[in-house]
Amino acid sequence: MRMSRYFLPVLKETPREAQIVSHRFMLQAGMIKQSSAGIYSWLPLGYKVLKKIEDIVHEEQIKAGHHPMLMPTIQSADLWRESGRYDAYGAEMLRITDRHERDMLYTPTAEELITDIFRANVTSYKDLPLTMYQIQWKFRDEVRPRFGVMRGREFYMKDGYNFDLTKEDALHAYNRHLVSYLRTYERMGLKAIPMRADSGPIGGEDTHEFLVLAETGESEVFYDSAVTDLTFGDREIDYDDKAACAAVMEEFTTKYARTDETHDEALFNEIPEERRMKARGIEVGQIFYFGTKYSDALNAAVDDGQGSKVNVHMGSHGIGVSRLLGAIIEASHDENGIIWPEGVTPFHVGILNMRSGDEAADAACEDLYKQITALGLEPLYDDRDERAGAKFGTMDMIGLPWRITVGPRGLKNGVVEVTCRRTGESEEMPPADAVAKIA
Ligand code: ATP
Ligand code: MG
Ligand code: MG
Ligand code: MG
Repeated sequence: MRMSRYFLPVLKETPREAQIVSHRFMLQAGMIKQSSAGIYSWLPLGYKVLKKIEDIVHEEQIKAGHHPMLMPTIQSADLWRESGRYDAYGAEMLRITDRHERDMLYTPTAEELITDIFRANVTSYKDLPLTMYQIQWKFRDEVRPRFGVMRGREFYMKDGYNFDLTKEDALHAYNRHLVSYLRTYERMGLKAIPMRADSGPIGGEDTHEFLVLAETGESEVFYDSAVTDLTFGDREIDYDDKAACAAVMEEFTTKYARTDETHDEALFNEIPEERRMKARGIEVGQIFYFGTKYSDALNAAVDDGQGSKVNVHMGSHGIGVSRLLGAIIEASHDENGIIWPEGVTPFHVGILNMRSGDEAADAACEDLYKQITALGLEPLYDDRDERAGAKFGTMDMIGLPWRITVGPRGLKNGVVEVTCRRTGESEEMPPADAVAKIA
């Protein structure tokens, strides 16, 4: 992409409404624009990162054997009356009346709708286990929308639902989700710690939230510092292997890690004092096992193969896809801007032409652009006729992992400069080596 042709409305001033760094940088880097409280347009750069995050979520869910699908954002109130949640959900639910005076709503979550799909189509244990998920816009009329995409009213969420014959099978689905979530967040360069949590309006007893530690997080958390050493890494896992998934669950959830709602001071005090941590965190996902809560309410039963009909055991599993942009930036930035982890960066490398219009510099940049593109990578080429200082500022704000700086002086010696955004280290080398370095 050439910057002269791109839509990248970078702001020069610090936006006054931004209270936290991720919100500020997303506005300044021209990634989002608020349209009304807690509702945003995703401009090209922001949309690109959103899609990268969404792709990772899809890939990891599909690997775990879960089926992507899509449900509508507008639902009828009827199913919610059937489950009893229409009144219980309260003011967070955006209620809509259509021209025929029918009660509709904008989906805040989709347990009812998916259970309705299930009960209309599945009647036998032979069709189980089954997990389906969607990545779809949600609406919750939050009392205090704030911090940009972190607490929006409209937000993008992955929500998955498992249907199983027995509690044991449903707990395997729970463990499978835990494993797939660990992999998902690690691919985004994040450390998200599973913590025992409270189930809220979804219901159920077994639930873990995934938290990214950050001072600006809205949750208060308590944990054994040893949990921060755990990583899933690149191990292979067979998602059908119940024991293997259970072992990962055990490994990642045995050490003390809880949100304030489930915090137990006496248990916490059993950890050696130097490992007792109290901090703040951003909730980037949550998994639930809630048994037959919804299958009881909505009559979702299957034939169990022994002549009886049994209500299916279920769970639901969410990832805050749009919130993740904020969480990643909170976890990865410096005073000059964002530092994108490789897995989600909108472009792989920035090419910065120090003297647009100079024949040698223009030609070298074009050549780099072609070679990098040929490798299947995406460069963002700042070909604008701007001051070098402004170009550096924009590149640092946007936060691509690598920058190649091309100027007439270097070119006379046959070199360009390659800079790593994270370390700030620069090195001069011939253009061909620069391409090899970022590949
Ligand atoms: P929170 O405690 O932050 O209000 P929640 O527990 O109500 O979140 P869930 O029902 O668990 O949210 O939804 C799954 C995920 O969706 C959350 O873990 C979070 O990452 C994301 N999410 C929830 N509410 C919002 C919101 N208002 N804006 C952006 N993301 C959200
Ligand atoms: Mg909430
Ligand atoms: Mg929560
Ligand atoms: Mg939650």
